[in-house]
Amino acid sequence: MYHSTTNGNEGTAMSLSERKALHLTGRLPTAVEDINTQKKRILKYLRSTSSMLEKYILIARLRTTHIRLFYKIVIEELQELAPIIYTPTVGTACQEYSNIYPFLSSPGVPDGLFLSGTDDFDTLCDIIRNYHSSTFSEFSPEIAVISDGSRILGLGDLGIGGMGIPIGKLQLYVAGAGIDPRRTLPIIIDLGTNNEQLLNDPCYLGERKLRPDDKEFYESVDRVLKALKTVHPKLLVQFEDWSSEHAFGLLEKYQNQLLCFNDDIQGTGAVILSGMINAIALAHTESGVSPDSHRIIFYGAGSAAIGVARQIQSYFQIDCGMTEEQARRLFWIVDSKGLVTLDRGDKLPQHKVYYARNDNNGKQYKNLMDIINYIQPTALIGLSSTSGAFNTHVLKRMAELNARPIVFPLSNPATKAECTFIDAMEATHNQVIFASGTAFPAYTITETQKTIVPAQGNNMYIFPGLGLGAVLAQPKTISDVMIYKAAKALADSLSPQERKQGLLYPELDRIRPVSAIVAEAVCREAIDQGTANQVIQDAFKKGQLLSYIEDHMWTPEPKLLKN
Ligand code: NAP
Ligand code: MN
Repeated sequence: MYHSTTNGNEGTAMSLSERKALHLTGRLPTAVEDINTQKKRILKYLRSTSSMLEKYILIARLRTTHIRLFYKIVIEELQELAPIIYTPTVGTACQEYSNIYPFLSSPGVPDGLFLSGTDDFDTLCDIIRNYHSSTFSEFSPEIAVISDGSRILGLGDLGIGGMGIPIGKLQLYVAGAGIDPRRTLPIIIDLGTNNEQLLNDPCYLGERKLRPDDKEFYESVDRVLKALKTVHPKLLVQFEDWSSEHAFGLLEKYQNQLLCFNDDIQGTGAVILSGMINAIALAHTESGVSPDSHRIIFYGAGSAAIGVARQIQSYFQIDCGMTEEQARRLFWIVDSKGLVTLDRGDKLPQHKVYYARNDNNGKQYKNLMDIINYIQPTALIGLSSTSGAFNTHVLKRMAELNARPIVFPLSNPATKAECTFIDAMEATHNQVIFASGTAFPAYTITETQKTIVPAQGNNMYIFPGLGLGAVLAQPKTISDVMIYKAAKALADSLSPQERKQGLLYPELDRIRPVSAIVAEAVCREAIDQGTANQVIQDAFKKGQLLSYIEDHMWTPEPKLLKN
C-alpha cells in the first residue's frame, strides 16, 4: 500500500484522518500541508541543483510518487519544466537511459510499455492487455506514442534509451492539451540497435542485436500495431523518432488505415508551416516580399525537412493560389552531399526525388555558400543536425540578399542547431525573422536595450491539440487537410498583442487555450469530412464546440485521482 503512493496517497498533503484510513499514521513526517507548499519545496530543491540531468531524474521520480503534484508543477511552470522533461534534457536522458534507469522509476511503477519484435500476436495482445501503469487505479489508454529508438532527436540510434521520448511527449500532451494521464501510453518497440557503443556497453538495457532487415521490421511493427488496435480499438497512435528510411514508409502504409500520425513529419510540418505563415506575412508587410516570390532552401533532407516542405508547399497552393508545379519550384533541398538534383549521379531515396531540381544546367553545388549565391534565397531552414552550418558568412549573405531574411535553424538539441539566436541577430543587424527548434535565450539589442525572445518552432504547439481533437472527434484517420487546418489555426491563434510584437508563435504559457483552438480546427475538419462522432457534431450544432473541448481538458486540481 505504502509504495503505491499515487492513488490517494499524496504524502504530507494528507490529512490526519486520510493517513489513518490508509494505515499511514507514523509513516509520514508530522506536518500536514497543502499541495502548494509541497510544490514550493520541490521547486526550491530543483532550482538548487545545477545539473539538468539531475533535475530530469528528480522530476521523473516525483511523477512516480505524487503524480498530481508532478503535473501541477509541469503545467504551472511549463516554461521552466519543458526543457527538463523534454528537449534538450530528454536527449541526455535517452543517451544515459541505461545508466539512470534505476533512479527513474521502480519496478512496480512502469514508465511505459516495452515490446519486442519477436513476440507473436497473441502474446503481444496479452502483454498490452496486462500492461497497467500502476501509477493509476484506472487506466484506459487513448493516445500511444511509439518509437523504435532508431533516430532520437538529432542524436541518432539510441535503442531502448529512446523510451524517454514517448514518455516525455505524453507528459507534454497532458500539460499542453489536458489529455488525462490515465489515457496515455508510452511505447518502445525494441528491435535491437545499430549503435555499436550501446551494443558493447555492459549496462545497455535493450536487445543486444543489430536491427532487422526491412521485411522483418515491417512485419514486427505491423504485428504490434494490430495487437494494439485489437486491445484498444480507439487508440490514437503517434509515431515518433523513427529513422527517415522507415518513417515515410510507415506513414504511407498506415495513415489511411489507422488513427495515426507521425509527429516528426506531420507535426513538425504543421508547426513550422504555422511559423512560416506568420514569417511570410511579416516579410510582406515589412519588406514588401510577396508570398509567391519566396525562394526557400532546406538544409537537411530527412523526414522533418520533407514534411515541412510539403506543408509549406500546400500553403502556397491552397492559400496563395499557385499550381502544384509553381509551388514545388520554390524549394531547393540540400543533403549531406549538396544540392539535391536529378543529375547528381547518385541514386536518390524516394523521399528526396520530388524536390530534386533539374534546372541546374548540369552543375552541382556542394557548399552552402555556393548554393546560396546560386539560388539567392529568401528563407533558410535548417533540419540537418549540423551545428554551426549557418555560420557568420552564411547569415551575413542572407542579410545582404534580404531586408528581413527568414532563418529557421530547427535542429535539436541546442548542440545540433545550425546557428544560435545571438549569431543570427548579430550577423543580420537584428533584421532576421527567426525561429529555432530548441529554446534559445532572449537577446537584448545593445543600442535600444530592447529584449527579443526568439520564436521556438516547438511541435508542442500542434501535437497536443491535434491529439486532443482526434481522440474527442474519433475520425477514422487523420487526413492531410486536418493537419493543414491545425497549422492554420495555430498561425491565427496569435493575440493582437503577440502580433504587434512580431511574434511568430503564441506565448508558450498560453499553450492550453491554443491547444483548444487547434483541437477545435481538427474537430471542425472531421465534421466537414463527415467522420466526427455524434457528441462532437452535437456540440458544434449548439455552437459549443470550443467550450466542450475546454471542458474535457484534464487538470490536476481538484483531486481527480480516485482512491
Ligand atoms: P534525419 O532523417 O536524420 O535527416 C537529417 C538530414 O540532414 C539528412 O537529409 C542528412 O543528409 C542531412 N545532413 C546531415 N549532415 C548534413 C550536412 N553536413 N549538410 C547538409 N545536410 C546534412 O533527421 P530528421 O528527422 O529529418 O531531423 C532532422 C533534425 O530536425 C533533427 O535535429 C531534429 O531534432 C530536428 N527536428 C526539429 C523539429 C522542430 O524544430 N520542431 C521537429 C522534428 C525534428 P543525408 O540525407 O544525405 O544523410
Ligand atoms: Mn521527434
